Amino acid sequence: MRLLIVGPQGAGKGTQAALLASNLQVPHVSTGDIFRANISAGTALGVEAKGYMDRGDLVPDEITRGMVADRVAEADAAAGFMLDGFPRNIAQAQWLSALLADRGEDLDAVVVLTAPDAELVQRMLLRGRADDTEEAIARRLAIYYAETEPLLEYYADKVVRVDGVGDVAEVQQRILSALGRGADAAS
Ligand code: AMP
Repeated sequence: MRLLIVGPQGAGKGTQAALLASNLQVPHVSTGDIFRANISAGTALGVEAKGYMDRGDLVPDEITRGMVADRVAEADAAAGFMLDGFPRNIAQAQWLSALLADRGEDLDAVVVLTAPDAELVQRMLLRGRADDTEEAIARRLAIYYAETEPLLEYYADKVVRVDGVGDVAEVQQRILSALGRGADAAS
């Protein structure tokens, strides 16, 4: 399965994506995680990305695309993957469509995790990640609504909306059911 998960920060996207990848036995490809690993390792890519990330801005497309192209070209992603955090704007989505078309592939579904704004901000403040300053949180939410939410229209025929409010296991079951892979699915 080739899946994409989309949702505002704080919707539980990363947690659900990791679980889903493990349940569906596909690699979890999180651009945020790959950037953070590069920052920890002190690579040139990490140094370049850090300033953007600390501000809550998107890292420029040229940098991000190269990283995604390399990751999905790895052997473990040949049969499927769970993309988390990419694409985040229409330009990235168009680029991904072309990349997959070249491979004779397409996404199977786009899972959209939803939650009310008040719940999102509350969860963000509890998360306490290094790039979770008040300014960066506000900036990421604004970018989500301006740049990422239009993806829901771009992927209209693939979107599966799932309510992200609830405990982790409960939300995961909702996603699996929505994808026809729930405990109650025929196979
Ligand atoms: P995330 O872990 O998905 O919240 O991503 C953390 C940060 O990494 C974002 O705020 C961006 O600065 C950067 N980032 C992650 N994915 C992308 C992407 N697809 N395009 C540009 N920047 C990204």
